[in-house]
Amino acid sequence: MSELRAAAEAIRANDRFLLVTHENPDGDALGSILAMKLALDALGKDAVMYIGGEMAIPPDYEFMALDRLLREVPADAATRVVLALDSATAPRTRVPPEVLAAAPVVVDVDHHHDNTRYGSINLVVADASSTGEIVRDLLRELGVPLTYDVAEAIYIALVTDTGRFQYANTTPKAHELAIELIAHGVEPQEIFRKIYEAVPFARAKLKGRALDRARLYEDGRMIATYLVREDFLELGVGEEYAEGVIDELRAVKGVELAMTVREPPVPDGPLRRVSMRSASDAFDVSAIARQRNGGGHKRAAGFSSDESVEEIIEFVRGEFASATRVA
Ligand code: AMP
Ligand code: MN
Ligand code: MN
Repeated sequence: MSELRAAAEAIRANDRFLLVTHENPDGDALGSILAMKLALDALGKDAVMYIGGEMAIPPDYEFMALDRLLREVPADAATRVVLALDSATAPRTRVPPEVLAAAPVVVDVDHHHDNTRYGSINLVVADASSTGEIVRDLLRELGVPLTYDVAEAIYIALVTDTGRFQYANTTPKAHELAIELIAHGVEPQEIFRKIYEAVPFARAKLKGRALDRARLYEDGRMIATYLVREDFLELGVGEEYAEGVIDELRAVKGVELAMTVREPPVPDGPLRRVSMRSASDAFDVSAIARQRNGGGHKRAAGFSSDESVEEIIEFVRGEFASATRVA
């Protein structure tokens, strides 16, 4: 049986679900979990959404219907079928290992090429533009009608993970999905306005600090910046406000590797979080991330570290310099 059919069968055969995605959720994570929740509601199933980690939902997605999202694992989690969306590894779901081990079935739905296949069913489609795209296929397999709300949630996943249809994962299938979603009532301009043109002023200021501090390395082929705890505290915002800084950096002419280091303004959790972006598949940033127990895609990856900002940038610069010298 194909993994798609196996995943659909596991959904049909069960009634109670725990929907999860990765910590520090992005638009694909949030769109996929919401689309799945709405679909399971339509099927008359009992599904709860949970997102772990200490980071708040980014302000870009405040408009989404996520009021029933749990930030703590529910007490009955171990008795529910786990549906993990857009999470390449089990730890990224923040579901305790004993809950995952006890769950009747774990369905891992994802598009990361380095997905560790931690589910009992692994619907991993590495060439899918987004997990939202795989969710669409799963809903078709299940025969769930594409309501406006489901279509909007999937569109949010698609438009954000493709960088508004600009990144290399913008395939014909991604555009075909957009056509289908628009035909079901999604208004691209409306979603664009809600996600990208409602920027809190403090976020613009935070980006300003990050850009002001950016430095070029390796003859301008690498760019790095950082945000320290005080930046977040002085502007009164959480780490989630830093989303998007890296996109400004990677757009700089001549840059092949862009990176940011952030100090989450929270008492627990890792001291620093690192995001990396590569301009081409030839330089795989997920390989660097894995060396520090992180991961991601070839062109977008990250890791956490307790090293200093300088040490982290030096580590990445060293990896970049040696990898591109050989190439
Ligand atoms: P970000 O830079 O946070 O937008 O993440 C880019 C990509 O790297 C995403 O696909 C994440 O799933 C992945 N990623 C980021 N941080 C980590 C981490 N600590 N461990 C594993 N994957 C990560
Ligand atoms: Mn994601
Ligand atoms: Mn994704």
